[in-house]
Amino acid sequence: MCELFRSCVHTHSVFCDGADTPAAMAQAALAMDFVSLGFSGHGPALYDSAAMAQEAEADYRAEVLRLRAAYDGRLEILLGLEHDSLSPYSPFAYDYLIESVHYFPHDGDFLCVDFSADETQRHLERFGDPYAYCRSYFAQCALAYDKSPAQIAGHLDLVAKFNELRPQFDEDDPRYLGPALEAAACAIARGMVIEVNTGAMARGYRKRPYPAAPLLRTVHELGGSVILTSDCHSAPQLTWAYGEAAALLRHCGFQEALVLRRDGFHTVPLPR
Ligand SMILES: [Zn+2]
Ligand SMILES: [Zn+2]
Repeated sequence: MCELFRSCVHTHSVFCDGADTPAAMAQAALAMDFVSLGFSGHGPALYDSAAMAQEAEADYRAEVLRLRAAYDGRLEILLGLEHDSLSPYSPFAYDYLIESVHYFPHDGDFLCVDFSADETQRHLERFGDPYAYCRSYFAQCALAYDKSPAQIAGHLDLVAKFNELRPQFDEDDPRYLGPALEAAACAIARGMVIEVNTGAMARGYRKRPYPAAPLLRTVHELGGSVILTSDCHSAPQLTWAYGEAAALLRHCGFQEALVLRRDGFHTVPLPR
C-alpha cells in the first residue's frame, strides 16, 4: 500500500486526551505496516484540560523515546508535540511541532473553538456576528504561524468543527474565506506544511477533512504542501478516511502529499 496511507504524525495518547497508550498505538501502527508514527501530545497549557500536565511531559518524552528504540528497524517513531498557540513553547527539543489554534483571546478570556457545539454557540452569541468570531480565530492563526517554529499548521479551519451539525456561518462567504485564506497564506509563507486532518470525521463531527475544499484549492494555488493525518485519539482510527481525504486533495488539484519520516518530509504521489 502507498506510503501515504502508512503514516500518521498527529497522534494523541493517554498522556493527553487519547484513549490508548503510546505502546498500543505503536503496536497498531506496526500491524498496519506503517513506515512512520509520530506522537504529538498536546503540549502543556494551563487553560486546557485536554493538554498534557507540565509534570507529565518528561514521562511522555521518555516513553516515546523508549518505543523508538524498541521499534528500531521495524517502524520509525517520531517525538512530536502539538503546540497550542496561546501556551509557552516547550523548552525541550522535538522532532517536529504542529502549530494549532484551539483557543483565541477575547475580552480577557480564552475562547475554545472545538469544545462543543453548545459552547461554540454561546461564543457566537457573545460576538453577535459569526464572521467576526471566525475573523478573530483566523487572526490568531496568522499571528501564531508568523512566530511559530512548527513545521506543520494543524487543522487550519478548526473554527468550523461544528458548522456541519449546526450551521452558523457560510464557509463560502468572503467574510469567512478572506481571513481563512490570509491565515493559510501566512503558514505557506513561513514554509509550514498544511495538515489535512480527518480527526473530526473519525469522531462524527464532519463529513470532510480540515481544511475545506475552497481553502485546499487556494493552498494548492499558492504552492503549499500538504500532509495527511487523522489527529488520532484511538488506535483503530490511525488512518481514518485517508482514502476520502486523498481523493479530495486530487479534486483540489494536488498530485502529491508529504509523509514525515525520521529523515524529514518525503514527497509521495497521491494514489489515483
Ligand atoms: Zn488540535
Ligand atoms: Zn490533535
